[in-house]
Amino acid sequence: MNEYDSDCLSQQLMNYGFNVTDNHEDADLIMINTCTVRAKAQQKAFSLIGRMISIKKRRPDIILGIMGCIAQQEGMDLFKKFPDVDLVLGTREIGRVPQILDRIIKGNEKVVATDLSIKCIPRERHNGYFKNRIKSFISIMEGCNNFCSYCIVPYVRGREVSRSTQEIMEEAKSLVSQGIKEITLLGQNVNSYSSTEREEVDFPMLLRMLSGLDGLNRIRFTTSHPKDLSDDLISCFKELHVLCPHIHLPFQSGSDRILRMMNRGYSREQYIDLTAKLRDIRSDFAITSDVMVGFPGESEKDFQMTIDLIRRIEFDNLFSFKYSDRKGTSAENMAKKVDEHEKSSRLSILQSIQKEITLKRNIQHIGKEEEVLVEGESRKGGQLTGRNETNKIVNFYSDIKLTGSLVKVFIKHAFINSLQGTLIKSH
Ligand code: SAM
Ligand code: SF4
Repeated sequence: MNEYDSDCLSQQLMNYGFNVTDNHEDADLIMINTCTVRAKAQQKAFSLIGRMISIKKRRPDIILGIMGCIAQQEGMDLFKKFPDVDLVLGTREIGRVPQILDRIIKGNEKVVATDLSIKCIPRERHNGYFKNRIKSFISIMEGCNNFCSYCIVPYVRGREVSRSTQEIMEEAKSLVSQGIKEITLLGQNVNSYSSTEREEVDFPMLLRMLSGLDGLNRIRFTTSHPKDLSDDLISCFKELHVLCPHIHLPFQSGSDRILRMMNRGYSREQYIDLTAKLRDIRSDFAITSDVMVGFPGESEKDFQMTIDLIRRIEFDNLFSFKYSDRKGTSAENMAKKVDEHEKSSRLSILQSIQKEITLKRNIQHIGKEEEVLVEGESRKGGQLTGRNETNKIVNFYSDIKLTGSLVKVFIKHAFINSLQGTLIKSH
């Protein structure tokens, strides 16, 4: 989501007259896009702001801004903490950047813009911005209404608002015309998408509309909430060949008691049933998830329920976190906080179990012919790299430049983070 917001900001800045530079030492304007979902993300953002301030001290005429969730949460207080900052831009104010820049550049003002009541963020485009890319995001909604007890998102990104279907379709067409082959639809809870502008369009309907776009090879989406995963959405995976067989479906905990305290709105059994339906479509259907250890009151037994769920489902991959207190959430005031040392120990047990499972799931791809969307040279160089339909990285040797093409690769080796194979044919 932050990457998408940064792209939106860059396009507006380019329309305003700025160019992009890879070197922040050369920049006339530096915006730091921040996340505050866990304390660690916040600390990282603060330390980056400190480093950028040292540039501003050397070159006082540059514009230095902070945007995103920390900007939304801290507002005016950021000026007290960092007097060198010129702009604090909240999560729903990105569309107002040109007017705000006029105030800073022409009016010599410092600006705090943190209005969360803005319903729809206008997403200004810059023609050709995505010309050299293969994949892109489209945000289909803003905010969240779920109020999971640990989560800061509803407070810093506001209530849920779905973007108009027409706007999303126009953005998708513009991306495809610039050469984009794969689009990932974004939202805190994409599967509760509902637009009522002209006629009611829900998330499966939106997927069906997008799947008809000529030139678009792949659609993905993230993140979906288990409580809103309908049979209709599951059937889209069977019906729409451009919809990739991968879902990121956070489960957070394997204990019903903890799930209730988290206010997640589903049970362990319901979650298991959903994943079974998805793996019934095809056994290599990739399921990735988010999980947290050390939620207030999490006992050893609760933690073992989480481990049991992980072993049972065999996730392709997991993002795992230690619970982190966030200011203003209801979990912040819950009793029986788990000690940091215990959280670290649970996290490392969980991660080592998941590593084995990830490798096991990757090994199951060996001997298969898989479709890969080529993204360019591999990180170490020498090979081409791309992703298969299940979102796994696939590396292979080729003498031909194939960036942007869909190719068939025969998988020969599997590692924790990637697969390796030989090129069979390019379409
Ligand atoms: N909307 C998505 C969902 O419901 O799954 C998740 C969005 S959240 C920004 C991404 C992940 O961060 C969550 O799935 C959760 O695992 C983790 N997270 C959120 N708040 C957290 C907290 N207070 N401490 C630790 N992890 C947290
Ligand atoms: Fe946070 Fe996701 Fe829960 Fe919304 S659904 S409150 S974004 S964890």
